[in-house]
Amino acid sequence: MNFGHIPVLTEDLFQIIFEKSPGSLLVKADKPYFTIVAASDTYLTITASKREEIVGRGFFEVFPDDSDFDDETNARNVFTKVIETGQKIEVPTYRYDVFNTETKSFEVHYWSCCNTPISDGTNEVAYILNTVVDITGEVKAKQAAIENEDRLRMAADAAAFGTWELKIADQHFVYSPRIAEIFGHPHDAVFTLADVRSQVNPDDMQNIVLKAYQEAILTGKYLYEVRIYWPDGSLHWIRTQGTVVHNDKNEPLSILGTMLDITESKADEIRKNDFIAMASHELKTPLTSLKAYVQLLSKKLADSGDSFVDNALSNANYQVNRMTDLIHGFLDLSKLEPGKLKLKMQEFDLNKLIEECIANSGSANQYHSISFFPGENLAVVADREKISQVIGNFLSNAVKYSAKGSKISITSEKVGNFVEVAVKDEGIGIKFKDQEKLFQRFYRVENERMKNISGFGIGLYLSSEIIQRHKGKIGLQSEENKGSIFYFSLPLSTKQEATNNQI
Ligand code: ADP
Repeated sequence: MNFGHIPVLTEDLFQIIFEKSPGSLLVKADKPYFTIVAASDTYLTITASKREEIVGRGFFEVFPDDSDFDDETNARNVFTKVIETGQKIEVPTYRYDVFNTETKSFEVHYWSCCNTPISDGTNEVAYILNTVVDITGEVKAKQAAIENEDRLRMAADAAAFGTWELKIADQHFVYSPRIAEIFGHPHDAVFTLADVRSQVNPDDMQNIVLKAYQEAILTGKYLYEVRIYWPDGSLHWIRTQGTVVHNDKNEPLSILGTMLDITESKADEIRKNDFIAMASHELKTPLTSLKAYVQLLSKKLADSGDSFVDNALSNANYQVNRMTDLIHGFLDLSKLEPGKLKLKMQEFDLNKLIEECIANSGSANQYHSISFFPGENLAVVADREKISQVIGNFLSNAVKYSAKGSKISITSEKVGNFVEVAVKDEGIGIKFKDQEKLFQRFYRVENERMKNISGFGIGLYLSSEIIQRHKGKIGLQSEENKGSIFYFSLPLSTKQEATNNQI
């Protein structure tokens, strides 16, 4: 057979192949010179050297001799060992500084090296094949990651944050020493997720932590504030915030988060709420009699024909009503502390309640046309008074934030295992960026139009708390200048649940 087209491995061809190979250098085992026999193009690039300047010369004539360092990985030690043992020696990370002729300075480089013994047919090592891969990028990236981690740790330490990771599959809990301190242990204490959870107030565990965990798996965000007990019995508050990490298939792998001891700020908040509750409570009685006097006066002077008196009394009545609403809002707010909001669950007809709410909105909606589209048979088990408060808030907002004469419609219907109530207006609407914040305490949209509409930003916050505690959902759809739909849903509960009236 004629294989004439296939090249024969001559010394020249070997030279060509070698020169095209990845970073390779062939040195003679002629200790102490280690004469360079051949160098590949890549090797020349990595070392910023020229073939004619290095081939035929001793390795340490052209490359720095680092044998002063008492280090097993220096080239002279490694070459010598390869010759003595006949074994391949790898140096996974080797620092080599290359002189950059443009910047006229040395640049730090890292190589991963392998030194393979090559025999010439006798039993001796005749050559060493020194192959190198420039891993400067990888090493620097690793260093940067370590630096970032250090910086993050320093920031977390400065802010007294604890950091943690919870593996979803086996619930393995990894935490920084600060977490141990937050739970009242020495910083090197060792504990499991179950140990940590056993320190959480049992009500908060059921109503807050487990719910937040389920929600995190669905939404990717983990957030809660709960009470914990230290081993010495003292009560503390913690705030935890986390993000769910997913794999390529979008399955949740773990939750990464931070934890902060918020006992002090919580104590301030509780003191403030207690003060507001006390002050609101004390204001209720004089305000009730003030309202009664205004109403008496209105009745008495109804036929006086004095338009100034009429006007003044109607304004006084309006302001007293506003103040009453505010004080009730503040009282409700103070009841939202964990364990304080009690629901009086009972079965009632939701449509009837909506009709009552429309009738009660009375004078406030005299300039709007309100239509109600009731769904069939909507008996629910819930706290009637609290649900009435939510519907009232949706209705008064629809009136407040839409032009006189515009339409407001209310619908109620069954959707799956829920009943849904929606209040639609043709008002000013809400920008997308504000929508998710509306349910936060004291949040009000800031714009020119809002300046003339009074409010305190607690109605929707209260509504959202009430609905959440009924295990329902609250939300909105809105477009600026077109109008809004605010809705809530309640689970279609069995009567059984009516007996479980404390949440
Ligand atoms: P308040 O109305 O007292 O400010 P709420 O908590 O009831 O407090 O509402 C919070 C904010 O949500 C309001 O300040 C307003 O900016 C916005 N908002 C609520 N309902 C509507 C609505 N129907 N149309 C437009 N904006 C609304």
